[in-house]
Amino acid sequence: MIKYRLACKNCNLNFDSWFASSNEYDRLKKKKLLNCHNCNSANVQKTIMAPQLINSKSKIDKKVNLERYNKVKKTIIGYQKFIKDNLKYVGDNFVYEARSIHYNSKKKSKGIYGSASKEDLKELKEEGIDVQMIPWIDEKDN
Ligand SMILES: [Zn+2]
Repeated sequence: MIKYRLACKNCNLNFDSWFASSNEYDRLKKKKLLNCHNCNSANVQKTIMAPQLINSKSKIDKKVNLERYNKVKKTIIGYQKFIKDNLKYVGDNFVYEARSIHYNSKKKSKGIYGSASKEDLKELKEEGIDVQMIPWIDEKDN
């Protein structure tokens, strides 16, 4: 048994049909015994359908995605290392510390990092405070 996806050239319907073999498809087609399920037109044609091809493609996609993910992860971990080495961690006090650096220009700071909500970041940006949000990977996740 072989399954073909047939397409009706008349009404554009796509439907699947089973045949004993590819020869049977050719035979029925020649005798105009293949009819559209919808409009009964004999103007139907098999479309290219190769399940093995689809499977191997999705496997490749998965692999590519994983590679891409690992690459991005590596980049993020690189950022994290840079940040940890160069900035001061303030944790949940981030919003407070960011404001105090911004409004107290005498206070010297090498920069801070910590956690803040999206709303907090929006407010800080509106106040003209330069904040960046970067994706963060918890090392526990590894
Ligand atoms: Zn049709």
